[in-house]
Amino acid sequence: MKNFRSLAIDGGAGTGKSTLSNLLSERNNYLYVETGSHYRAFSWMLMESEIEPEKVNEFIESNSISILSKIIKNKSLITIDQQSFSKEKLRSPKVNQNVSRYAAVPALRKLLFDYQYSQVELAKESGFNGVILEGRDIGTKILPEADLKIFLWADAQIRVRRRSSDGETDSIITRDQMDMNRIEAPLVCAEGAIKIDTGQFSPDEVYEQVMRALELLR
Ligand code: C5P
Repeated sequence: MKNFRSLAIDGGAGTGKSTLSNLLSERNNYLYVETGSHYRAFSWMLMESEIEPEKVNEFIESNSISILSKIIKNKSLITIDQQSFSKEKLRSPKVNQNVSRYAAVPALRKLLFDYQYSQVELAKESGFNGVILEGRDIGTKILPEADLKIFLWADAQIRVRRRSSDGETDSIITRDQMDMNRIEAPLVCAEGAIKIDTGQFSPDEVYEQVMRALELLR
């Protein structure tokens, strides 16, 4: 499809990735894929079944797991074996505390790779003008060929403040440390990504910067 755009947005917790992705997807009819929710959904499901990260490999090898998408407005939502996941589950303190442990398991990342990559085709087939994949390893691993790669960051104090004003219990600094120091797909700025310090700008100003970068692609 002509002019279909793929965007890779990465950054640590509380850097404003979902605020930016929501603005971009709603204003430009892009499909928004929040890949953190995929790791959160698996963490919830695995914890419910009392499967520790050390046992995930074995679980994946011995089960055939069906991963599908449900599109609601501009968002692609994951279902695992036909189960969908509420925001309350995905953002529960228990998931916040454990998601990085599960996300560090290579077998789970491998399982999600094809699913996440397939979202580009899904967006095209579903008539969207583009796709936004947002997470930690989009520009480095999932979609290094994205039309535009963005890396968001902000001062730790600002990020902690944002998260607590959302009313969430979330040790974002610990989570970032784990995400940056893991062996498989650590959180790093991808080559060629535009870096934006979101602590310095309003959400609309960040949006405008990205729109200008998109214009330059034409
Ligand atoms: O984006 P969000 O904060 O919801 O992500 C939750 C967790 O999922 C991250 O802390 C990270 O451990 C994991 N994640 C990841 N790779 C992605 C997206 C999220 O490892 N692409």
